[in-house]
Amino acid sequence: MTTSASPSAGSERPCRFIIIGAGMSGILAAIELRKAGFHDFTIYERADRLGGTWRDNTYPGLACDVPSHLYCYSFAPNPDWSHRFASGAEIQSYFEAVARRFGIDRLIRYGKEVRRCTFADGRWKIELADGSGDAGDFVIAATGVLRDPAYPDIPGLETFAGPTLHTARWDHGVATAGRRIGVIGTGSSAIQVVSALVHEVSELALFQRTPQWIMAQDNPAYTPVEQAEFRTQPEKMAALRADISRAFADGFSNAVIDADSPQLQAIHDACVANLETSVRDPELRERLRPSYRAGCKRLIMSADFYEAIQRPNARLVTAAITGIEPAGVRTQDGRLHPLDVLVLATGYQVDRFVRPIEVVGRNGVALDEVWKDGPFAYLAISVPAFPNFFMLNGPNGPVGNFSLIEVAELQIGYILQLVEHVRRGAYREVSAAPAAMERFAADRREAARTTIWQSGCRSWYLDPGGVPIAWPWTFDRFREEMRAPQLADYERR
Ligand code: NAP
Repeated sequence: MTTSASPSAGSERPCRFIIIGAGMSGILAAIELRKAGFHDFTIYERADRLGGTWRDNTYPGLACDVPSHLYCYSFAPNPDWSHRFASGAEIQSYFEAVARRFGIDRLIRYGKEVRRCTFADGRWKIELADGSGDAGDFVIAATGVLRDPAYPDIPGLETFAGPTLHTARWDHGVATAGRRIGVIGTGSSAIQVVSALVHEVSELALFQRTPQWIMAQDNPAYTPVEQAEFRTQPEKMAALRADISRAFADGFSNAVIDADSPQLQAIHDACVANLETSVRDPELRERLRPSYRAGCKRLIMSADFYEAIQRPNARLVTAAITGIEPAGVRTQDGRLHPLDVLVLATGYQVDRFVRPIEVVGRNGVALDEVWKDGPFAYLAISVPAFPNFFMLNGPNGPVGNFSLIEVAELQIGYILQLVEHVRRGAYREVSAAPAAMERFAADRREAARTTIWQSGCRSWYLDPGGVPIAWPWTFDRFREEMRAPQLADYERR
């Protein structure tokens, strides 16, 4: 297979883009389009603010467990990060500041929900919920990965008499201080919210269906001296970013895709040591001990969860939930756990991606139909028969164990190379070739067999058939793939 040649010179074709979503990826797409000399685009955002997941998630304790100097755009480093791992509010402010600085904020059309995208006569026709419409040559779906909350199917959930909050839709009007709080779930969101809330509530009951491995993670503040250094010596910040990126890839991202790797064993050992040294009561320690290997579920990083769950006002409930009643949660042992506020830290509908937007490709083929057995995309970007429709952080990409910002930056660079050929007139329409898609899917399934995700646990990484949905190779391989499109893998017309 040959790498694409540079596009032949010719008259430039006008290109109009529709960007869906003004989160991290949508803002990035707009900035990169401009850098590449494309100015004809519109960003549609269904909410009234930018920020995506960082706008939607505001639960107490929210932070990003990817180091801040990596969790930011490479072209917009931030010397002012307060901590090694920034809070959600700080990250939201960062995206707002970047969008302002690059003049993107004023280009966003807020309160505009895209309902349908239809490919007809070589262009994408866009229909919005308010009845308006638009059209473009390209669609960039920057609609996020973990976006729509998943509500658990627990009998009686709607009968609870007090407020019910999903972590991804926190209502700050609901008082929690001095009240009896129940938290369902033990994922990354639950661990953060429990560690924050336990200090102010009268009682906290954590309903655990499956225990989690937890890596100890300190979160030191950057001193004013360090921040000043980052400001005056940006090369120091760049070096720090490069170091973190390398360490993150070698020590973590590349480890999880090889269940037998020594790095993964080291992570497992560190988690075991954290449990052994942090939890004093042997009975509680055993109830918190997972029966699967560290990294099988998305690893949790926390400096304070074990301390939080050992506080006198905290209780770990491991009896299965049988139902929810007006007064609280009922468990299989017959006990009613009386609560004032119920928190659902039950995760996301992970198979949505661009959906529920109806996307209709060439010859009337519906994306929902193509994805009926689960979402997929060639290199997480393109789906056969959906020409000039590109996803950022689409299905099958590196997710969960990578900085999604780094992923999106690589992807937009790659997409722009495909677009460049259109601008130069080499072809008008481009989408993944069916054969390339099939090969990618088969290779991905095969490679996934040796990842830690398929080593025996339930997690959002697995599709309903138990096959990991995520990129099962190294981050270096992803970087290499994103260097330049192999045009033979694309159908071009
Ligand atoms: P999650 O990892 O999907 O966890 C959902 C939790 O809810 C699990 O413990 C699950 O139990 C439990 N659950 C679901 N339905 C239940 C039911 N019917 N009864 C009892 N328990 C139920 O969701 P999340 O914690 O929101 O995290 C999702 C992802 O978001 C993370 O993996 C991570 O990638 C990202 N995230 C990142 C950060 C960060 O710092 N970067 C912070 C938060 C989230 P089981 O384990 O038994 O299924």
